[in-house]
Amino acid sequence: LARDVIASVEHRGARIVGTAMSIPGFVRAGTGEIMEAPNLGWRNVDALRLLRADSPLPDAMLRVGNDANFAAEAETWMRLQRCRSGGPRPSGTYIYLAGTVGFGAALVHDCRIYHGDNGWSMEIGHVCVQPDGPQCACGATGCLESYAGRFRMLEAAGLPEWASLSDIAVAAEAGDDRSLAAIKNAGGAIGVVLSSVVSLLDVPEVVLGGELGQLTEFLRPYVAAEIKRRVVSAAWQEIAVTTSLIDGFDPLSGAALSIVLGG
Ligand SMILES: [Zn+2]
Repeated sequence: LARDVIASVEHRGARIVGTAMSIPGFVRAGTGEIMEAPNLGWRNVDALRLLRADSPLPDAMLRVGNDANFAAEAETWMRLQRCRSGGPRPSGTYIYLAGTVGFGAALVHDCRIYHGDNGWSMEIGHVCVQPDGPQCACGATGCLESYAGRFRMLEAAGLPEWASLSDIAVAAEAGDDRSLAAIKNAGGAIGVVLSSVVSLLDVPEVVLGGELGQLTEFLRPYVAAEIKRRVVSAAWQEIAVTTSLIDGFDPLSGAALSIVLGG
């Protein structure tokens, strides 16, 4: 696959300067070691070593990172670009919530991502909604992913596993009761978890990205209601619930940017 991509790019006269791998899981900062990616079934994978050993471009830059952090890098870059193009000055401090099969998040403060001591901060998908809730792929119970992950939402909406969250949006738009209930349930769970995060970190904005961004208009009332109900400071500081400026491929855009800007 990599050789096909390289051939295609070089055929267009471009040069590949690096390779980045976006991982939905725990990546140790500085080493690129994937400690665990629950939804991939990966554990203790030295991704950088594997990439180096089999790379058709041995001199190219290599990066391995968490998908939500990469997505937040792309979001921040897009915000800055819009501002430089004469758009309104965007907030540089927000929580980026990336939802697909699982859930990841990133904390962005003054346009810089907070990675935590080891690189695995903001693993929001495995924050508990209800201690006695359903079993999660991580081994615990009641995690956010068990309430608002893609497969859980599709099941609740009565849609097949191969459908997407945009299919739920289409069904909800048509007034389908099960899809509307699935959105309400997921939005409530997301709102409960985000309320705790906002209370702890004092951020003015929550961005819904990844596939989840396609449901922002439907989820917003439920997420905002929980934040308003649970975050004390929301009485005098509005917490905006917005959608990502990147329309698809957020983590991959950020991964590519990390190579281009890093080089
Ligand atoms: Zn979990």
